[in-house]
Amino acid sequence: MRILLTNDDGIRAPGLAVLERIARQISDDIWIVAPAEEQSGAGHSLTLTEPLRLRRLDKRRYAVRGTPTDCVMMALGHVLRETPPDLILSGVNRGPNLAEDVTYSGTVSAAMEGTLAGIPSIALSQLMEDYKEGAEDFRAAETAAPDLIRGFAAGAWGKGVFLNINFPARANPKGTRVTEQGLRDYGNIHLIEETDPRGFPYYWFAYGHGLAEPAENSDLEAVADGYVSVSPLHLNLTEYDAMSRLKELIRRP
Ligand code: MN
Repeated sequence: MRILLTNDDGIRAPGLAVLERIARQISDDIWIVAPAEEQSGAGHSLTLTEPLRLRRLDKRRYAVRGTPTDCVMMALGHVLRETPPDLILSGVNRGPNLAEDVTYSGTVSAAMEGTLAGIPSIALSQLMEDYKEGAEDFRAAETAAPDLIRGFAAGAWGKGVFLNINFPARANPKGTRVTEQGLRDYGNIHLIEETDPRGFPYYWFAYGHGLAEPAENSDLEAVADGYVSVSPLHLNLTEYDAMSRLKELIRRP
């Protein structure tokens, strides 16, 4: 089985090395096409106004000066054009990709892109107690991911569907739950204002604390309870119930 690895934390990120170890337990045919620099928060963006630079680091390892979506497109359209992968794994992200964060996430968007191309794709993210450099703990992903991926790769989980897996911040997860995408209180992300050395203000997005009471069966609840969360997601954002209401409004302006 040919597996393509990518991420949004960049080609040098510890989580990508973790993902490579995970993938090598499943196959020897591993290819990596990952962003040259960190792209967290890049979402599903695509580079259209600059050239895409591709650097070959070794036979099966490439760095792209671009977004995670660029990486998947470069892999499928160029590096592996003749022999596409059977599976795409994105991560392991340093930090969660839960609830509405999936739309900001480069990690999840790489899996979206793979799915659009018709290739089974899985995003993997690891929650942590401590996000300081060097303190990152990917043990839950390392422990639980190989069997999960093997299991999912063995069967079809639905056309146009990709998996968003989040590992809880504990070395040994209590188990795995199939979950739905949750929703946080808006305003969880806030702005910090500081002053730069030249006296000008600058702003930086920062995360607040999670929900005290996450919804039942949500991804947020599963990881809060110490479980691995597996959410099947799809790219059709249509709210079908609203269609008939809108049609009514068009008829009766
Ligand atoms: Mn990231």
